[in-house]
Amino acid sequence: MKIGIVGLGLIGGSLGLDLQQLGHQVLGVSRRTETCERAIARRAVTQASCDISLLATAEVIFLCTPLGAIQATVEELILHLQPETILTDVGSVKTPVVEKITPLWPSFVGGHPMAGTAATGIEAAQPQLFAGRPYVLTPVATTPPEALETLRELLRSLEVQLHQCSPQDHDRAVAWISHLPVMVSASLIAACMRETDPAVVELAQKLASSGFRDTSRVGGGNPELGRMMAEFNQPQLLRSLQGYRHCLDQIIAKIEQQDWSGIEQILVQTRQARPQFLNPSDQPQDPPTP
Ligand code: NAP
Repeated sequence: MKIGIVGLGLIGGSLGLDLQQLGHQVLGVSRRTETCERAIARRAVTQASCDISLLATAEVIFLCTPLGAIQATVEELILHLQPETILTDVGSVKTPVVEKITPLWPSFVGGHPMAGTAATGIEAAQPQLFAGRPYVLTPVATTPPEALETLRELLRSLEVQLHQCSPQDHDRAVAWISHLPVMVSASLIAACMRETDPAVVELAQKLASSGFRDTSRVGGGNPELGRMMAEFNQPQLLRSLQGYRHCLDQIIAKIEQQDWSGIEQILVQTRQARPQFLNPSDQPQDPPTP
């Protein structure tokens, strides 16, 4: 198959590596010439250019730019495409993207791979990033069934765990498990930076181990991506942040009241609930260390 990718960064580059490995011809378009050259050198694409007309003959095109660039990219891209070309994006928020792109290109299927790392750009691209991970598609009533099926088949070959839901349900769900954690984790790091005694800060930095590494990971990721999550998913992110603040207030009240069994009860409930949010491959093998 001839596949196009716009935006040769972590996600676009990683998709290219796997699709090339499967024998597809991958054409890449990115903003900078250096990125195009690196993508070819890393074998993430067969050919690459800053000129979007390179994708004129692609059968399926993955839009992998930052969220804020998707609409302008599509407006330019569709001037060059055959009507049967399937467009899909990988953006972390779906409702605004699907609402804007569907009227421009009927054969569009919103998508979101639930995989990533803290790194960005073509050098961060890695093979098998999506294997075994959830990948959500968000078709709407007007999405052509053939376009959806072609895409589903292509994604199955990447060994992803396919899911399907409405753009609205997607945004509400990822606000809880992806966008809220970024803001909580960022707040954790910001709160630690409020310590006023430099000697204590230095000691905390030396003592920080796996617990801090795990809880601070997503707060130390791509700032542009975090900003786009907040900007594009504002209502759902606010709703989940308010839910989080409520839970934090409950914990503060229990600690103030020295309600130690109340605290333990919360922690028993959260320990029981956590595995239901984890992929089978992420289930803890050993009891967590503090
Ligand atoms: P990234 O590593 O920063 O890659 C984005 C790439 O897009 C950049 O390397 C840049 O390439 C290129 N680009 C920027 N503006 C462009 C434009 N106008 N036209 C063409 N190329 C452009 O970011 P990413 O993490 O791959 O994220 C890309 C998309 O994936 C976002 O929509 C994000 O919501 C989604 N996503 C991210 C994750 C994650 O964890 N990172 C997970 C799932 C989905 P140049 O080097 O050429 O400037």
